[in-house]
Formats: sequence, C-alpha cells, structure tokens
Amino acid sequence: MQFNALRFEGKTEYIEYEGGTAEADVGQLILSLLDADFHPMLQLAKETERKLSACCGTEGITIGDRMQELETCPYYTAAAFSSAVKDYFKNNPHLLHLFAEQRVDYFRYSFDAEQEKLSYEGDVFDIVSDIAQEENWHYADWRINKLRELGDLCIRANILQKLIKEYPCYKKSLYGFEDVEDNTLSALAIRFVADVRWQLEQLITFQEEIETLLAYALDANGNLSELSVGQRYSSIPRTLINKYENAHSQLIVQSRITEGTAYIGYHSENLCTLAFFEFKYMCVNDIHVRRCARCERYFLPFSKISRYCDRLADLNTKKTCKDIAAMEKYSDKISQNEALALYRKRANAYQMRCRRAPSCYSHEDYEAWKERARGLLEQVNRGELSPEDFDMETQIPDAK
Ligand SMILES: [Zn+2]
Repeated sequence: MQFNALRFEGKTEYIEYEGGTAEADVGQLILSLLDADFHPMLQLAKETERKLSACCGTEGITIGDRMQELETCPYYTAAAFSSAVKDYFKNNPHLLHLFAEQRVDYFRYSFDAEQEKLSYEGDVFDIVSDIAQEENWHYADWRINKLRELGDLCIRANILQKLIKEYPCYKKSLYGFEDVEDNTLSALAIRFVADVRWQLEQLITFQEEIETLLAYALDANGNLSELSVGQRYSSIPRTLINKYENAHSQLIVQSRITEGTAYIGYHSENLCTLAFFEFKYMCVNDIHVRRCARCERYFLPFSKISRYCDRLADLNTKKTCKDIAAMEKYSDKISQNEALALYRKRANAYQMRCRRAPSCYSHEDYEAWKERARGLLEQVNRGELSPEDFDMETQIPDAK
C-alpha cells in the first residue's frame, strides 16, 4: 500500500500511513479539515519563502559551505518549516498522518525526471538511510560513489526527503556530500516550501467550498433536506462540482489482496481530492452531517436526536458541547421529552420482542433493562446525561 491512502468499510474509514493505520468514522477527514486553522502555517510558509529567496542563484557554493551557515541554510530551513507544520497538526492526528505523508510523498510523485532515476535504482532510498546511521559511516564511501554515479538528482531528492522527514536528527546525513554543488539542493528546498504554501492556500479555499457542498447534499437540517441525496447532489452549482470532479481523476485506486486482508484503497497526493472522494462516499452511503446547536460547526450525529458535537468546548473543564448542552437549562425540556419518547418507543419494542420470541428475549432481561433505562432517564432530567448518550446506553440488546 502506498502512503497517504484512505479506505472504507461501511461507516468506518482507515488511513494508512507509514507505521500504522488510523481508524475513524467516515466523514472525519472532512471534519478535521474544517476544524483546522491553516492560516498560521500559511503565514509561516510565506515568511520561510521570503527567507529562502535570498539564497537563490548563488554560484560556487557547496553543500558543505551551506552546512556551516546553520541559520540560513536553505535545506535546514525547509526541513525546520516542515517540522513546524507537523508540530502544529499534532492535535489533529487524522490530518497529521495525511499531511506528513504527503510531504514525504512529494518527492516521490512530483519529480518525474527524478522518479525515473529513483526507480532505475530502487534501493537508493535505503542507501541514503544507511549513510544516515552513524554506525554505518565507515561503509559509506562506496554508497556515496554509487549515488554519484546515479547523478545529482538522486542525491538531492533523497537527502531532502529524509531531512524533511526526520529533521533535526538527520542533519548528519549530509556527510560525504560536502563538496557537491549546492545549487540544485537549495532550489529543491525552495520549491518544496512554495509547494506546501500552495497546498495550504488550496486547503483554505477547500474549507469554504466543502461547507457549501455539505450544505447542499448532506446537512440533515439543510434547506434541501426534504430531497433525496441524489437530487441534492444535482443541485450543487456545476462550476463548483466540476472543479472537484476533475481533480477526482487524479485519484489512484489500489486493490490489496493478501491472505489476511482484501480491500480497495484510494490514494492521492492532494488532500482535497481525497476529502472530496470521502464526500462522495458519504453521499452514496447516506451518511449525513448536522450543525451543532451550540458551536454551529458540522459534526457526525450519532443518532437522529443528536444536536450537539463532541468537540472540546471548555479547555479548563474538558467539557464538550454535548456535556455543556446537557447541563444548560435551556435545552433540558427538549432533551427530556426526546429521551422520554425514545425510552417509551424502545420499551414497547423490547416488550413486543419478549412476547414474540421469549426464547431469544427473556422477561428478566427486559425488566433489568427497563430499570436501568429509567435510572438513565432520571439522569437526563437532572442534566447529568446527554440525550445522545442516553440513546447509546439504552439500545435494545441483540437476541441471545
Ligand atoms: Zn459543538
């Protein structure tokens, strides 16, 4: 599986990244994108670009010379920027995996000429990794010579890829390249930062546009909620939908069948393309979103009566919108009525099952369930339990 891949299983999605798999509800990628604030990073990208532009077109400087100027060295600057982006998204793991892998992937997919050379000698990447390990330094000479045979392009793409991935511990990897001309490596560093800046700008535009897409097709309380998802999707302005439909063709579909697993994964070097694909998957599978009645941001409702999201609303008390809403009086009456109606409906359904299939549903279990549900209902009335949690806690158990 290539990095940066997304796959679905019913209402669950998986993100494959180097070193693991992250699991979440379908829709989480879009919601993570909507929650992220890309502006501080965009600002940093622009500042970094300005700083790097001073290093452009300097002839006769070697990698070794650059390494002496720690503060202004373009590849360290680019790698430090990449590290800062990664840190910034630490609290958003779903996004971090995709974004981090994407930056590493950049070197795999964005340089066609390099790509050819890299695939020509598949283990170049490993060679550079080996050089990075201090203990292998005494074996490094032949590897460096090998890289030089393959050409300058290989050297810089790999060096920068590793630097960006493992900065600052990879600084030493430049050992052995001190007398190599710096120009191309600096140019690559500049191009990398410019590309991330462009990606961030794209993501900011996407945030606005995906809100519109959701409002048209998937907002459970939206203006068009009476229509079918198909009808809703068709009413999205063509100019908007075409933009992402066209990008859609950049999606790489991969099937993986081994003894243990069989699935189809989707890969793209563009996060927006992946998120749009997730949006379409949600349309096809009728997975709706709703605006939280408290913070007004989109969330994935657990049930038809979910009105509040699970976002942390108060950093001090660690309370979510759902917790706060359950406590606040203004929502009590609605919550109580809804929870009571839900309780009655379920109690009737449960009782009916006991009558029709006594061997599967015992009367004792029903009584126990009823007593517990009543207790929980009391908690809702006291504002100690949200209606969503009540819903989750009082599901009728499966047949024996
Ligand atoms: Zn909320």
